[in-house]
Amino acid sequence: MVDKVRGLLVGRMQPIHDGHMDVIRRILDEVDEMVIGIGSAQLSHTLKDPFTAGERTMMISKALTENGITPNKYYITPIQDVTRNSLWVAQVKMLTPPFEMIYSGNPLVQRLFIEAGYKVTTPPLFNREVYSGTEVRNRMLKDDDWKSLLPSSVVDVIEEINGIDRIKHISKKEI
Ligand code: NAD
Repeated sequence: MVDKVRGLLVGRMQPIHDGHMDVIRRILDEVDEMVIGIGSAQLSHTLKDPFTAGERTMMISKALTENGITPNKYYITPIQDVTRNSLWVAQVKMLTPPFEMIYSGNPLVQRLFIEAGYKVTTPPLFNREVYSGTEVRNRMLKDDDWKSLLPSSVVDVIEEINGIDRIKHISKKEI
């Protein structure tokens, strides 16, 4: 039996957008299976991290299905942050299926995995000015067009969980 090559992508995915989908498609061209780590899994209900790990799991699996990526190609694993960066790679390894390749554009993620002896690949950025979680969340707050940046199944999840109400509510200042 030939061992499968697995690649890891860790991201907060707040929420998953078409830039993430571009990276995921590229990674799946190179590996047999993907491990998608949902970073900062403990965080939710803040402007930077509005959605829970459970909500993000739902968004990611529906976005992959919408893009024709079947569940035998990936594992989705929530990963909580740890206070000590030097221990984070061990935390990731403890929680995920075995992987050989790391894909990340995040310098801290790259550095920690390089120091742990992994080969790290930087995927090209897909129109980062527009396809970024920060841009999506800002548009949600301003009632600008956020839907065109996301797979439509992710828009459906955000509507199901009243995500826009949540973001707008927590952005209010107490008077
Ligand atoms: P993110 O959702 O912003 O990005 C995830 C990945 O997608 C990144 O590799 C990024 O380069 C890529 N990407 C995003 N937009 C793209 C686009 N338009 N085109 C192509 N690629 C694009 O998530 P992130 O902030 O990188 O997530 C890292 C996670 O790792 C965080 O949750 C962080 O807390 C965690 N972390 C934790 C520790 C610790 O706990 N000590 C240490 C390091 C990292």
